[in-house]
Amino acid sequence: MAIPGKNSATHMIDQKHDLGRWRRATVVSTTKAASNVMAIRFAVEGWREDGGHKPGQHVDVRLTSADGYMAERSYSIANPFPGDDFDVELGVELLENGEVSPYLWQLQPGEAIEMRGPIGGHFIWGTDMPDPLVLVAGGSGMVPLMSMLRLHESSAAKGADREVVFIISLRTIDKLLYADELAEISRRDARVRIAIALTESVPDGWTGYSRRIDAQMFEKEVGRLKGSMPDIYICGPTRFVEAAANLLVGLGFNTHSIRTERFGG
Ligand SMILES: Cc1cc2nc3c(=O)[nH]c(=O)nc-3n(C[C@H](O)[C@H](O)[C@H](O)COP(=O)(O)OP(=O)(O)OC[C@H]3O[C@@H](n4cnc5c(N)ncnc54)[C@H](O)[C@@H]3O)c2cc1C
Repeated sequence: MAIPGKNSATHMIDQKHDLGRWRRATVVSTTKAASNVMAIRFAVEGWREDGGHKPGQHVDVRLTSADGYMAERSYSIANPFPGDDFDVELGVELLENGEVSPYLWQLQPGEAIEMRGPIGGHFIWGTDMPDPLVLVAGGSGMVPLMSMLRLHESSAAKGADREVVFIISLRTIDKLLYADELAEISRRDARVRIAIALTESVPDGWTGYSRRIDAQMFEKEVGRLKGSMPDIYICGPTRFVEAAANLLVGLGFNTHSIRTERFGG
């Protein structure tokens, strides 16, 4: 397998502070989480011994080619805590002409890359935070929000009668990450509402939204929560995040209760 070389697309590495040491991260499993997203689970050297991570945090991954060229990208963590045989699950969207995501997509169990983290102190959520919880994702921006939802659904949050609204915007339904798990959560937990907006085309019999996010949609889904000061997390491509945050502020939600994570693009 070829690691990107000097001639592939370049990506400036913007390291502003010491993010911790690079660790060996060995692939445990790879599974399609959506038509365009691969869920890759890694066992990461010393991860749990050093305290693991919190929902919402991300890691940097680094690939090094034989000639020493390095490519580095950030990826959010999809799992709230380590599993039996893995520490970190990433959900990597395939960008056909990308430098790093196609490489990550072809990784096989047993192969290793470098990883450092966890990174991020602002875009995190814990079960000790007040109700309700509003999650807004554009495309693979679902990844860190899944970590939050999974923590909410876990035994760690047992008994929490928290209302959760998860608004997800996607081009088409095949791009919905963790579709079976989300359907199961919806069935099991009446306090979790998952609203999906498809922007390109809809399947037959679709009962969700078939348009881009807008004020009317947000008012319907979360307008009633204004008075209860929800914690709001928005993640996805930069323009999506800005549009969603502006809509929520326009509806009267407090800017201080809105946390955002931008994937670029
Ligand atoms: C904090 C943080 C968390 C992130 N978490 C995730 C994650 O969980 N899953 C994930 O798949 N990605 C995530 N990203 C994006 C990821 O870091 C890479 O930018 C992405 O995988 C593209 O890398 P690449 O090397 O494949 O493409 P590049 O070679 O960097 O880019 C290829 C082309 O695609 C464009 N492009 C770059 N990024 C995007 C994008 N996000 N959407 C659309 N076009 C883009 C570029 O402008 C370029 O034209 C995250 C980014 C940040 C900053």
